[in-house]
Amino acid sequence: MGLIYKIALPLPLRRLFDYLPPPESTHPLSRGMRVKVPFGKRELIGIILGYSDTPSVPALQLKTISEIVDNEAFFPTSLCDFIEKVAQYYHCPIGEAAFTGTPLAIRQGKSCVKPIPHSPLIFQPSPLALNDHQATALQAICEKSDFSTFLLDGITGSGKTEVYLQATEFFLKQNKQILILVPEISLTGQTLERFIHRFGEGMMLYHSRLSPKKRHETWLKIRENQAAVIIGTRSALFLPFINLGLIVIYEEHDAAFKQQEGVRYSARDSGILRGKMMNCPVVLGSATPSFETLFNVKIAKYHSLSLPKRATNIQLPEVTLLDVRHKKLMGGLSTPLLKSIEEHCQHGQVLLFINRRGFSPTFMCYACHWMARCKHCDARLTYHPQKNALLCHHCGYQSRVPQGCPDCQAAELHPVGQGTQRIESVLQERFPALKMIRIDSDATRKKGELEKRLQAARNNEAPLLIGTQMLAKGHHFPHLSLVAIVDADGGLFSVDFRAVERMAQLIIQVAGRAGRVHQAGKVLIQSFYPEHPLLKMILQQDYGKFAEKLLLDRQQCSLPPYSHLALVRAYAKDQPLPQQLLEEARVALSASHHAISILGPVSAPMLKRQGKYHYQLLLQSPHRKCLHSALSYLTSFLETSKLSKRVRWSLDVDPLEMF
Ligand SMILES: [Zn+2]
Ligand SMILES: [Zn+2]
Repeated sequence: MGLIYKIALPLPLRRLFDYLPPPESTHPLSRGMRVKVPFGKRELIGIILGYSDTPSVPALQLKTISEIVDNEAFFPTSLCDFIEKVAQYYHCPIGEAAFTGTPLAIRQGKSCVKPIPHSPLIFQPSPLALNDHQATALQAICEKSDFSTFLLDGITGSGKTEVYLQATEFFLKQNKQILILVPEISLTGQTLERFIHRFGEGMMLYHSRLSPKKRHETWLKIRENQAAVIIGTRSALFLPFINLGLIVIYEEHDAAFKQQEGVRYSARDSGILRGKMMNCPVVLGSATPSFETLFNVKIAKYHSLSLPKRATNIQLPEVTLLDVRHKKLMGGLSTPLLKSIEEHCQHGQVLLFINRRGFSPTFMCYACHWMARCKHCDARLTYHPQKNALLCHHCGYQSRVPQGCPDCQAAELHPVGQGTQRIESVLQERFPALKMIRIDSDATRKKGELEKRLQAARNNEAPLLIGTQMLAKGHHFPHLSLVAIVDADGGLFSVDFRAVERMAQLIIQVAGRAGRVHQAGKVLIQSFYPEHPLLKMILQQDYGKFAEKLLLDRQQCSLPPYSHLALVRAYAKDQPLPQQLLEEARVALSASHHAISILGPVSAPMLKRQGKYHYQLLLQSPHRKCLHSALSYLTSFLETSKLSKRVRWSLDVDPLEMF
């Protein structure tokens, strides 16, 4: 028996597949080469990841590689190693990890590699002098040419970006590749422009909205060891870097770094892993670091670099809480808020933040309390007046607005609660002459619309901006003098243990938009629970203290980062099946793995979604190793279970959403 190749194939199975070399091949094949192999009745493109002398299936069943796509290793060894580690950590199918974010042409085994002209790197020298804190941070990062994780902790406006820019410049001068990971490309705003301005041609983008051709080109350029600055979203981590010198993870607390489907990886955590494997420094930046990161600073796993001052010497905004208990509200807006909006619109710009799109989240009959609900989900329908429709934000179901109550035939139905569109229409009615710009996913669906609206907002073409969290992140509006948060209470009573952390981050991020260049800004926050201690702490703008307190709570409840979680989700059309499958898994696990706690199975917070019934099982352990061993057992149990043919299931290691 000769050498057997172990190949990663794009299949939802947690294993490599054995193949024999083609008879005509005289040289051994390398790890990282792409090959075409027969699989059932199909042919698939896979990547060689290993070798063996002994096959894992009877020798007679072994098939032969039908075509060798590359004449040398196409995926660099460091990428192959990274793929293996990601698959191990997340217990995901290795073939899926291997092709995460890989350009289509490469997955299809296209090999026509045109030589790419190397454009010489020209960049603008850093025009800005750093303050002491920035200089210390920059020095710490640049001194380290090997792996280390830094937290660059600084409030909005403290000059983090300039530190990134100068660190990038430093490593670029050493002919290294630099990866800047961002949560979402469209939300990076001016930061992106500053990078483009500084590095020009030497800057490349990598994200899912690029054309397939552009992605293919960038992938090949990186593999050619072209020194460059790459700004990309999650999948850019899987680029074939040869000579990575620095990884920056921009707004590291952002939940968008976690992929919620397919390979459910955290690009922040995997980014740190990649840095470790490539032996380069990793910088996590945030004004509101995640509790996990703060914990890692506390146990000295990460080094903290803080930028305590605003670089431009602007004062922090003045934050005021508006108690709206028993107050008369006009479409959710209190009288003092309306007055402030009117005042600030005369000479400044106002940002009104509400984290809900649409007109109103509920449509109901006051007579019998009937509510419009989705047919396919346990969810209420949101009223969208422009479409004259009720929409489900979970599955896209759309229904016409009923003429009267379907239950009691009352003539009138009422929208209840506020979304961005209702706030907009209330304000249009109140201030008919006022120009306003609304920014949410409904208003910006058309290509280019988001950029257009953001540009108009920056240019102060309208004094009033209304938006969801699309407006909260990264943008810089130089004329903003008032930021108002319409409803701050969202996270206070959620079942998700991370909800309060997220709420605080969002409030601080939104508030950080106020008064950035010309004057100190104002922040107004409406709340029905102004006495709530968490809200009070957020208002004192001491995020560090707030995090400390909440981390203590997490420790007492053994929640992350003091323990490790994995969530198994299962769903099917037949209601009892997913619960049955998870129950079988629980029984098997608790018999074999005593060191982990198993919670459930329970129904998901939204039991019925898109016509399917959802259940979940939570695994928890203070020891990562115990959890890993349980998950290896669990995935093979689920893959081979009879019921799993009728139930879809997925595994989420370190879940960020608990549903
Ligand atoms: Zn009714
Ligand atoms: Zn629905």
